[in-house]
Amino acid sequence: MRKTGGARELHFPECSAGGPVAGLHLPVRPVSAQWPDYNSRCAPRAGTQFPRVPRAGPAAVAPASAVPGLSGLSAAPLAASSSGRLGGCAGSAAMDSPEVTFTLAYLVFAVCFVFTPTEFHSAGLTVQNLLSGWLGSEDAAFVPYHLRRTAATLLCHSLLPLGYYVGMCFAASEKRLYSPSQAPEAWRLFLLLAVTLPTIACTLIYYWSRDRWARHPLARTLALYALPQSGWRAVASSVNTEFRRIDKFATGAPGARVIVTDTWVMKVTTYRVHVAQQQDVHLTVTESQQHELSPDSNLPVQLLTIRVAGASPAVQAFDIRLNSTEYGELCEKLRAPIRSAANVVIRQSLGDLFLETFASMVEENPVYSVPSSQELEACIGCMQTRASVKLVKTCQEVAESECQRCYCRPMWCLTCMGKWFASRQDQQRPDTWLASRVPCPTCRARFCILDVCAVR
Ligand SMILES: [Zn+2]
Ligand SMILES: [Zn+2]
Ligand SMILES: [Zn+2]
Repeated sequence: MRKTGGARELHFPECSAGGPVAGLHLPVRPVSAQWPDYNSRCAPRAGTQFPRVPRAGPAAVAPASAVPGLSGLSAAPLAASSSGRLGGCAGSAAMDSPEVTFTLAYLVFAVCFVFTPTEFHSAGLTVQNLLSGWLGSEDAAFVPYHLRRTAATLLCHSLLPLGYYVGMCFAASEKRLYSPSQAPEAWRLFLLLAVTLPTIACTLIYYWSRDRWARHPLARTLALYALPQSGWRAVASSVNTEFRRIDKFATGAPGARVIVTDTWVMKVTTYRVHVAQQQDVHLTVTESQQHELSPDSNLPVQLLTIRVAGASPAVQAFDIRLNSTEYGELCEKLRAPIRSAANVVIRQSLGDLFLETFASMVEENPVYSVPSSQELEACIGCMQTRASVKLVKTCQEVAESECQRCYCRPMWCLTCMGKWFASRQDQQRPDTWLASRVPCPTCRARFCILDVCAVR
C-alpha cells in the first residue's frame, strides 16, 4: 500500500510544476492530515480476509445466528442436536425425537417470526406481508395501516405459544395433550398461559379499536397535536400526506425504522409507532458506537443514538438509531438543530469529508468569469441550485493522456461535481482520491481537481 503523501507526490507536482498554481498546494496539507486517519483505519481491510461482522443490535443478531438452523430445518443441525441428546440419555423413551425436533424448529421459527431477519423478509414471512390484504398500503394511508399492523402483530405474536401447544399435540401424541384434562400438570399450565395471552391481546385490541381506533396509543399521541375543534384524524391525514412525499428521510431496519417528514419525527417499531412534532421536540445525540466494518460496505461505521424528547411531558420520549453517514441528511430534514452530548464526536462519512475538502480546494483555484451574455442555468445534477463550476484546464499537465480541455458551459454545482468526482474513485483507496483524474460528466474530457473553477 502506498503512503498518502507518496501518492500525492506522484501526481500533484506534475500538475502544478512551476507557474502560479504551485502555491495552491499548501491547503492540501491539512487534508493529508485527515486522510491518513481513515487510511490507518482502513488498513486492515486491504487484506480483506476479515470475516463479515453481523449487523449490530441484539434483535438482529439473534435471528441471524438462528437462521442457518432454520435453513436445515429437517436436516443436519437439528438432527445432530436431537440425536446428541438421545445419545446422552440412551434408552430414555421420554426424549422422543419428533418432540425435540419440533420444539427446536418451532423455537427457531418463533424467534425469526418475531424478530424477522432479512431472510424472513425476503421469504415474505412477516405479519405485514401475510396480512397485506387487510392492512392496506402504508403509502396510501400511513396511520390506518399502522393502527392495524400493530394490532395484528400483537395478536399474531400472542398466538405463538398456542401454536406450539397445538403442534405438540401431534408431535408428542402419547402425552394426550389434545385432551387437557388428561395432560400432565405442567402442560395444563402452559395451555392456560397460551390461551390467556391471545385473550389479553384480543381484549386490548378490542379496546383500541372502539370509537374507530381512537384509543390506540398512536391515535392518542396524535390527539395531543390536534387543534381543539378537530380530532386526531385531522392530524393523521396530515401525517399520511407527508409520508407520501418522496423527500422524507427514512432509514433503519424494519423493526426500528426512522422516518422524518417536514413536520414529524417518527419511529416505527414492531408494536408501536412513536410520533413527535418537529417544532415540539429536542433532539440530542446521546451515544455513539463504533463498528470496524459494516456488512454492506467495507468501511468502518459509527452508529448514533439520538434521543427525541418532547417539550411537553405528555409526549413520550424515544430513541432513534442511525448510521453517522446519514446524520447530515437527517440534519437537513430537521428544522431544529441536534444537540450533542459533550462526549460524543460524530464522524462524517467519507463522502462528506471529501466534499468539504473538494470545496476548499476549488476555492483556491482561479475563478472563471462567465460572459455577461451567458446566463447560468440550474445544475443538471440536482436541479436545486445554479451551476457554479466550470472545468478550465489550469494545471500544467501537458501529456495528451492526462488533463484535457473541456468546452462545456457551466452545468454543475460544486457539490454535484464533488460527488461525481468521488463516485469515480476507488472506494477502497481514499488516499488516492485527491490526486486522480476523472472524466467530465458531460463531455468525458479528463480533469483534475486543479481544473475545477468556481464561476462568478
Ligand atoms: Zn447540483
Ligand atoms: Zn466537459
Ligand atoms: Zn489537470
